[in-house]
Parts: sequence; structure tokens; C-alpha cells
Amino acid sequence: MLPAIPFNKPYFSGSETRYIEEAVRFGKLSGDGIFTEKCHSFFEQNLAFQKVLLTTSCTAALEMAALLLNIQPGDEVIVPSYTFVSTPNAFVLRGAKIVFADSTALNPNLDAASLEALVTPRTRVIVPVHYAGIACDMDTVQAVADRHGLAVVEDAAQAIDGFHNGRALGTLGALAAFSFHETKNIISGEGGLLAINDPAYTQRAEIIRQKGTNRSSFFRGEVDKYQWVAVGSSFLPSDIIAAFLFAQLENLAAIQARRKAIWQRYFEAFAPLAAEGIGRPLLPAYASNNGHLFYLVCRSPAERSALIAHLKSRQILSVFHYVALHSSPYYAKKHDGRPLPWADHYTDCLLRLPLYYELHPDLQNRVIDGVLAFYHRR
Ligand SMILES: *Cc1c(COP(=O)(O)O)cnc(C)c1O
Repeated sequence: MLPAIPFNKPYFSGSETRYIEEAVRFGKLSGDGIFTEKCHSFFEQNLAFQKVLLTTSCTAALEMAALLLNIQPGDEVIVPSYTFVSTPNAFVLRGAKIVFADSTALNPNLDAASLEALVTPRTRVIVPVHYAGIACDMDTVQAVADRHGLAVVEDAAQAIDGFHNGRALGTLGALAAFSFHETKNIISGEGGLLAINDPAYTQRAEIIRQKGTNRSSFFRGEVDKYQWVAVGSSFLPSDIIAAFLFAQLENLAAIQARRKAIWQRYFEAFAPLAAEGIGRPLLPAYASNNGHLFYLVCRSPAERSALIAHLKSRQILSVFHYVALHSSPYYAKKHDGRPLPWADHYTDCLLRLPLYYELHPDLQNRVIDGVLAFYHRR
């Protein structure tokens, strides 16, 4: 029997355990140790971020954003329906009402042209999610936000090394959240990052992340004791997590080169299916590919189920995700009832194919052959 091809396989550079040992030897295992500092410097010096703070997850970074923006009960936050639950949940925790935007026909990103009609006097924030690391239409998002005085928080969980007109995703909104969950391009098991692009938020972000204390200022010698100065929580990861992450960051270029090559190979191999109405990830002119995930959009849920079964019979694991949140058990009754047909379409028809660093060309050929055989193209 052929070896099974998993959907995902975490990448290891080989230095992770060595750096964790170093962190242990150094003897400071709580947050903001030497490896956290190394990670912060990497993002700020190599990747053009102004100010970043490691967090325990992207979810935590989004929750920090909601606290930083002082979201109050009844405030409205516009979020795509086709996304991970953390995108709206971070704001729901503060009492916000979620207004779901539909996706575009081109790709699952939110339909920026629909935003203007969703804004009310209570709207505070727009949260674009760069799905599959492909940029949302940020010019339109920002124009709507500017017109109505709204904050933009990028859910850049999938968007490391993605760009919008040459500018790094995660540097465009006032705040942005990244994920280093095991399924993302660079990982620390669980982990995340808050990028702060408006310096007005920097000091409070440090306080919120350190349980509402001015501990960060204290360690820099700016105050002579640290105290409780605001509400906050514990959003910072242990230096052990940062040590793992640094080993990945050092290899970002190699990881990205490999992932993008795999993505490009899928994209070209499935070009013949486009004529039959099978969708591939389409990049608007302003967007780049960051090799985060490769998907097909089948023509019906039945076709998707049959394709999953066909690939499984060849020991290949393909998976779908995101039951559109406007019809989730938690939010369906709170949703305003607008139909969101594109979010439903991706819920029903989008299928993700294996994409990971170790997916060598011979293994990828098996996936490509399996899909093409299903559509009688091979
Ligand atoms: C993975 C992901 C998250 C959550 O990231 P965690 O680090 O697991 O909290 C949030 N939003 C999107 C779009 C994601 O893909």
C-alpha cells in the first residue's frame, strides 16, 4: 500500500530543541526573555514591522485588539462570515454585535464593496481576514474605515509573508494578529503575535499583555515599581515557546520558497479544471501568494464529498473547513438574517489539499494525479 499523505505535517528546522535547551539553561522561562526579544527584533528588523508583541495565540492577539479599542457592549464589528471563530469571538467577549460580511466571488475574502452598506452609527471596527494569505482589497477597506472613523484590525493569522501592493500584510491596519499554530506556515505549537502599526496603542498594549500592570516600563527602568494600572490579562507566551518560534523564523525564507513552489505547482496543474468551473485560489492584481494553503472550489457539496472519498481511497487526506459563522449554532439567531451566498458557497464547496514543507514532488504528483483522475483528466 502507498504511504498515506497527511493534510499537514509540522515543519521542524532542527534547531528548536537546541534553542529550548538554551532558554532552559538561561533560567528565565517566563515571558519576555531572550528568545522573545530575538523574535521581536526579527519581526521589527527583517520584516518591516514597527512594533510587535508575541502572544499565546492569534486568538489572544485579537482579544488584545478588542481591549485596546475599548469595544463596549452594543458596538458593531464587521467581520467576514467565512472565517475562523476567533475573528468575531474576540469582540463578542467584549459585548460587541457582529455584522457579517459576505465573501467575494473571486475568493473567500470579504467583499469590500459590500462594506459601506453595513456601516451604522454604532460601527467601530472592520476586521479583514486575509484568507489563505491572499490580501483583502485593503484600499477599499481603508477608504470605508477612514470615511466613517473606524479602526481596521487585520486578521493576518494565515498571512505571514503575504503582501498588498508590495506592503506586508499585518502592517496595514491599526493593529494586526498573526498565528503560529501548528497548521500555519511558521509555528510554535500554539502562539501568536500582535502587530501595532499605530504607535498610540503601544503603551497600553504592553500593559494589557502584562495583566494590566506597567511591568514592561518597570523592566526598562522607566518607573521605580510596577503596579496595576489598567485592565488586562496574561497574553504573553513563555520564552520556551519563543525559543521554538525563533528556530522557525531563522528559516522563514527556505520555508516560504518551498511552500510557494508547491502552491504554484498545484495552481498550474489544475489550470485545465478551470474551464469546467472548478475554482482555484485567484489573486487580485494587488495580492501576492504566500503558500499558506491551496484549495479547489468544487461545483457542489456532493462533488466535494466524492472527491474527498476518491482521494482517501488513494491514501490522500484532503479537508474542508469553516461552517460560515452566520449559520453557526452560537450566532445564527443573533445574525440579522441577510443571506450570504458566497460564504455559504465556500462552506459547501471549498476543499483544501495537502501543503507542507516535506511534500516532495513525487508525493505532490500523487495528489495532482488523484484530483485529475477524479475529473477524468488523466
Ligand atoms: C488559525 C486562525 C486563527 C486562530 O489562530 P490561533 O493562533 O489558533 O488562535 C484566527 N483566524 C484565522 C483566520 C486563522 O486561520
